[in-house]
Amino acid sequence: MPTRNHFRKTYLVTGGAGFIGSHLCDRLIGAGHAVLCVDNYLTGSRDNIAHLLDDPHFEAMRHDVTFPLFVEVDGIFNLACPASPVHYQRDPVQTTKTSVHGAINMLGLAKRLNVPILQASTSEVYGDPEIHPQTEDYWGHVNPIGTRACYDEGKRCAETLFFDYHREHDLEIKVARIFNTYGPRMHPNDGRVVSNFIMQALRGDDITLYGDGEQTRSFCYVDDLVEGLIRLMNTDAAVTGPVNLGNPGEFTMRELARAVIDETGAKSQMIHAPLPADDPRQRQPDISLAQQTLEWTPTVPLVDGLQPTVAYFRDLVERGLS
Ligand code: NAD
Ligand code: UDP
Ligand code: UDP
Repeated sequence: MPTRNHFRKTYLVTGGAGFIGSHLCDRLIGAGHAVLCVDNYLTGSRDNIAHLLDDPHFEAMRHDVTFPLFVEVDGIFNLACPASPVHYQRDPVQTTKTSVHGAINMLGLAKRLNVPILQASTSEVYGDPEIHPQTEDYWGHVNPIGTRACYDEGKRCAETLFFDYHREHDLEIKVARIFNTYGPRMHPNDGRVVSNFIMQALRGDDITLYGDGEQTRSFCYVDDLVEGLIRLMNTDAAVTGPVNLGNPGEFTMRELARAVIDETGAKSQMIHAPLPADDPRQRQPDISLAQQTLEWTPTVPLVDGLQPTVAYFRDLVERGLS
């Protein structure tokens, strides 16, 4: 049984059946809180939360955040939104609606209840960045009419809404700019680079480097990321963010492919495929603000985080679930 304390709060986690959301639900329940998980299962899955369904302090509700929601909670983590380019570009108008209408509804809920609300924003607000590494005061370099815009501009508008509710209604907001995160429960077919490379390696297929494979990303293990989100929620009201949350360890996609081949023991070759439009050339968080404000630093290096991630995907493949 999880340890219970006398300070149990009830948190709403939108997108709680997704990759990051389900790990957040685990941590909140483990810390003795109650969780209301709201999800429309667009990209998430009941499997991700199946182990929580018997917990008396966990409740799952099917709901689309683009519609109003009337519940009673003590705090809100707003994570609902497809996160991989393949998923969010499948229905781009719905993606923007989820970010914008979803933010309005969850902010309206937080305002009525007068409770803190955390937004899962993204490093994508920086677009294809012209400064490196990215600090929170950089305004970004986003193509407003490109195929990534439904996600990038939706998330930027959500940040705008958060700060206007804060200014207009004195709402307690926490904006986290999350950088590429990976770990168990990523969707095996979401097209993201970590899941793609591992699935290709496990199947013995060639590994697809888009473009020259020299573009960079910085990968944060999900447990570290969730720790950052919880610390941010627990800050006092004066801390609004935006705060970068990510692991500054920066790798080219070629280096990532090599690490995946080493971890899986695969015989896969690397091949090249076309670079998607507006693909950012480089990305690395400056996490000085999170280090100072949250006393948070990621602890899991890529090689260590790949082990449980590969094990998770290997299990899916062996059970014929992917
Ligand atoms: P995910 O796709 O696994 O999870 C998103 C969840 O939101 C899914 O369970 C999905 O079904 C749900 N959802 C989507 N639209 C919804 C709607 N209209 N109503 C209710 N639920 C809805 O993605 P993830 O990687 O866990 O990302 C979680 C959040 O973190 C997202 O907001 C994403 O933008 C943000 N983020 C993630 C990363 C990353 O690297 N994973 C990076 C930056 C930001
Ligand atoms: N809202 C909600 N749950 C609530 C309170 C509000 O979903 O508990 C929605 C509401 O339907 C509205 C949105 O949040 O569409 C914004 O609410 P707000 O009170 O800020 O604005 P208004 O209702 O005045 O448009
Ligand atoms: N990428 C790749 N091969 C793949 C999938 C992605 O080389 O099979 C590249 C992609 O072009 C991008 C990087 O990996 O430069 C990260 O892509 P992902 O979709 O995971 O995240 P994002 O671009 O949103 O950071």
